[in-house]
Parts: sequence; C-alpha cells; structure tokens
Amino acid sequence: MPALKTDTDVLIAGAGPAGLALAAELRRRGISPLTIDRQPAGANTSRACVVHARTMEVLEPLGVTRELLAQGVRVPIFRVRDRDRVLITIDFSHIASPYPFTLMVPQDRVEQCLLNHFESRGGGVVRPCELVSYNASASQVEVQVKAAGVAKTIEARWLIGCDGMHSTVREQSRVAFTGAAYEQSFVLADVHMHWPLSRDEVTLFFSPDGLVVVAPLPEDRFRIVSHGGQCARIAVSGFRPAPIRCSRPIRESRPYSRRGLELPVSHPPSRRAKPAQEPYSAVRRCRACAQPCRRAGL
Ligand SMILES: Cc1cc2nc3c(=O)[nH]c(=O)nc-3n(C[C@H](O)[C@H](O)[C@H](O)COP(=O)(O)OP(=O)(O)OC[C@H]3O[C@@H](n4cnc5c(N)ncnc54)[C@H](O)[C@@H]3O)c2cc1C
Repeated sequence: MPALKTDTDVLIAGAGPAGLALAAELRRRGISPLTIDRQPAGANTSRACVVHARTMEVLEPLGVTRELLAQGVRVPIFRVRDRDRVLITIDFSHIASPYPFTLMVPQDRVEQCLLNHFESRGGGVVRPCELVSYNASASQVEVQVKAAGVAKTIEARWLIGCDGMHSTVREQSRVAFTGAAYEQSFVLADVHMHWPLSRDEVTLFFSPDGLVVVAPLPEDRFRIVSHGGQCARIAVSGFRPAPIRCSRPIRESRPYSRRGLELPVSHPPSRRAKPAQEPYSAVRRCRACAQPCRRAGL
C-alpha cells in the first residue's frame, strides 16, 4: 500500500469501479493520483454484472478489456417475456462496436482487474482512509481525512469524488442528487441451476406479480433478480422442464431470505462457488451540477 502523501495534484476519494478506472487511466497518462478508500479492503461481492459495449471500448486503451473478455460471458440477446411468450427481443449483435454483446462479469472481478492495471503502473489505494470534509479555493482543495483513525490534512489541486451513492464530496459540494427509492425490495441471487433457456440471453420476465431477471454468469452460474417469493415462480411459469421448486432459502442468515426464491427449476448443489442471496432496494436518482468547479462527482 502506498504511503499517504499530504500534497498531490489529484486526490481521488473512493476506489470502486469509477475511482479505480479513473486512477488507472490517469496513471496511464502519466499522472499519479492519490487514491483513498475508507474501507480497509475492497468489496468482494458480485453486485453489478453487466459491462456494456461502450464501457469495453473506453477501457480498451488501459488493456483491461481483453482481461474482462477472458473472464466474462458474452451475451448478445436481451429478451422481455411474459412468462413463455416473447414480447421484445433486443439483439446487440448488430451494434456498431467491436463488442456487439453485453459482457456478464461480476463487479468484484471488474474491480480486481482495474486494480491490477492501476498497480501494474505503480499505483495503489491508501486504506482505510476516509475523506471527512474539504475546503476549496480557486487554486487548491484542502482535504481533511481520517487515515486509520488519525486525522490528517491533504492539499490537492483537484479533488475527484468517486465515493459512491452517499458521496460526501457530492453532498459537501451541494450537488443535488434527486430521486427516491423504489417501493419494492428485490432479492438478488447468484446460483447454479438447470435452466431451459439459452445462455446467450438475459431474460426479463414480466408477470402480474412482479418481475424476474435471469442472466448468465461465468462458471455456469446465473444471476436471478426478483421481488422474491411467489413472484419468481409465477413469472417463469411457462417453463417447467423439471417442476422442482427451489423455495429453500439459499442462505439462511438473512431475514429476508426466509421468503426465498421459488423457481420451477432445480439447482444442483455445487462446491465450486458459494451461492449468494442478497436483499436490496433500488433507487432512481439523477445528479445535477450547476457550475464547473474543482470538484467532480462521478
Ligand atoms: C447487491 C447490489 C447489486 C447491484 N447490482 C447492480 C446492477 O445489476 N447494475 C448496476 O448498474 N449496478 C448495480 N449495483 C450498483 C453498483 O454496485 C454501483 O452502481 C457501483 O458500485 C457504483 O460504482 P462507484 O465506483 O461509483 O461507487 P462504489 O462502488 O459505491 O464505490 C465507492 C467507494 O468509495 C468509498 N467511499 C465512500 N465514501 C468515502 C469517503 N468519505 N472517503 C473515502 N472513501 C469513501 C467506498 O468505500 C467505496 O469503495 C448493485 C449494488 C449492489 C449493492
């Protein structure tokens, strides 16, 4: 881990995908950003799993894209179904890009890949180091951080907020982030299962009881997102190759998982990867910045 400098040209707060991609790209262009993150280690959960064509194009000069392609599943079709009836097919194989598909690759792998490229160019993330507040003048930003519990001040020419949804940089810059959480909560699970549809397709099922998304992941896994409970069973009810209900919770430790997912498919136990099931809620927001400034929220 690099030492914490007290003055730098560019300070990046947050080492998620946005912060790491920016840090690696700056390093490639000969700029050495100081990159900090308040967590002692990077997250190791799958979270967002779709990398789109334009992202792969943008990451190409970094050398990241080839590595992601090797790790991900290429999925050219996004299909919306009402149970077993096809409503809409979106075929990415015709788009004008060297990457005419969506790439399914879990976020922890994307982050690891970006970090590897950042480190291979001499970079590194200082952890745990939390941005607490900042004062900006016309020529520089004075940033107060807490590094392993110790308060410090860093002087930077530029501060870039990549500190996620509850960004301190954005809040202190008074950049609005209006919107609200959806009422529904969703269950998200990465599982091994027998599935009748092709692994070339991400499927969004609509049903009167809610929606279900099934998307292929590497290592023969699938990502399922649903409102949970009966909804998943009803939404895919046209498909019953083996009418086995998986109402058994995949992991018992979380209260929400008691409702489980009920899919008419079987999922053979596997030791290759630990399935995960997470409750989460979705938000819709949009950022608005009135004037150019020395702070940028990504
Ligand atoms: C279960 C789950 C499923 C998801 N699924 C999807 C999906 O399917 N598709 C999709 O597009 N998105 C999905 N997301 C959202 C996706 O993970 C985020 O959009 C993405 O991580 C945002 O990247 P980021 O780099 O902007 O911020 P983050 O990944 O949130 O990274 C911000 C980083 O900043 C650090 N930080 C925060 N505050 C400070 C501070 N004050 N000082 C220093 N460091 C700080 C944090 O520790 C963190 O490492 C999902 C999220 C979850 C939790």
